[in-house]
Amino acid sequence: MKNRHKSTSSRNPGEIPEHDYLAMLTGLTHSGILWEPVNDTVMGGRSHSNAGFNSSGQLCFHGQVSLENNGGFASVRTRCRLGLGGFAGFRLRLAGDGKRYSFRIKTGKDGQLHRFSYEAVFDTRDALHSDHSGCWKNPGTTGLSDRSLSLADDSHEEIWLPFDRFRPVFRGRQVPDAPDLDPSDSGEVSLMIKDGQEGSFELQVSDIAAYRLPQENEQQWMELALAMAGESGTPYGAVIVGPDDRIISKAGNRVGAASDASAHAEIEAIRKAGKKQGSAGLSGCRLFTTVEPCPMCMSAVIWAGISEVYYGAGIPDVVAAGGKQIMMRAAELAGRTPDSPVLYEGLCRDACIRKL
Ligand SMILES: [Zn+2]
Repeated sequence: MKNRHKSTSSRNPGEIPEHDYLAMLTGLTHSGILWEPVNDTVMGGRSHSNAGFNSSGQLCFHGQVSLENNGGFASVRTRCRLGLGGFAGFRLRLAGDGKRYSFRIKTGKDGQLHRFSYEAVFDTRDALHSDHSGCWKNPGTTGLSDRSLSLADDSHEEIWLPFDRFRPVFRGRQVPDAPDLDPSDSGEVSLMIKDGQEGSFELQVSDIAAYRLPQENEQQWMELALAMAGESGTPYGAVIVGPDDRIISKAGNRVGAASDASAHAEIEAIRKAGKKQGSAGLSGCRLFTTVEPCPMCMSAVIWAGISEVYYGAGIPDVVAAGGKQIMMRAAELAGRTPDSPVLYEGLCRDACIRKL
């Protein structure tokens, strides 16, 4: 089991959790989220930066670092309230330019944020210099032409930042008397560059997630979804669990069996659950599905008002295994929808990939 993550070569060596993990997609890279630049100009410097979304829906942090006037940093930040109690750290999925960056989080009770931040520093691989179709040259496009590039994912790496790697800092200095980071009351996150070098920089972030160990019952429900996949003779199985942890419905893919192109496992499970409940609304319910929902199923999840979605294999995993998929991630659809379900990925991922 130690080599379970070998299939994704892009993870940072040494940063990979040894155990199975569950990643909550935080929605911070959805195009509706406002990221605001904060640069050394607040202290008289000359650096500048901006954050926008490229045509692949990735958050692009880009700009120019200047060391003039004792400056030398650029950053972007977004306000957010993330309930991260019980989580172990952040996982960033990004393509960088070989430079050193930091990810920061501010915490504080009831929106009263501490003045200092907690900071974790990370290095990036130079993935962008070979491809200068970078976002900053083309900030306003919304075309679909390079969407498949973002899904191919080979220029992206995963950066794992356990909470115990975060250090309290204020204006570039450590804060020795700061309390330990309490991730349950986070209020702001930021991306920063202050690597002591002048020049332009660019970071493309496709996802910011918080990760934690899965709970035993979450694993059991996914194992049941895997069993439904096995019964259907396909990689696809789904289970819907009610607010009281009772299993409401379970289903495998029946496209072939029912001669119905819409009979995906998630749709089958949603139909069964609606019938059983006597209501189309499934608010408070959780969906466990072996593979990331396609746009059809994700739409049904949203219409049903399902509160949380847990998936094992991602759409890029299906494509890597030679399967056909509509190239739109569940997070993207969720990001375009108010009150969309919380998405968790990676639950029993290896077992789900083995089914593909
Ligand atoms: Zn589907």
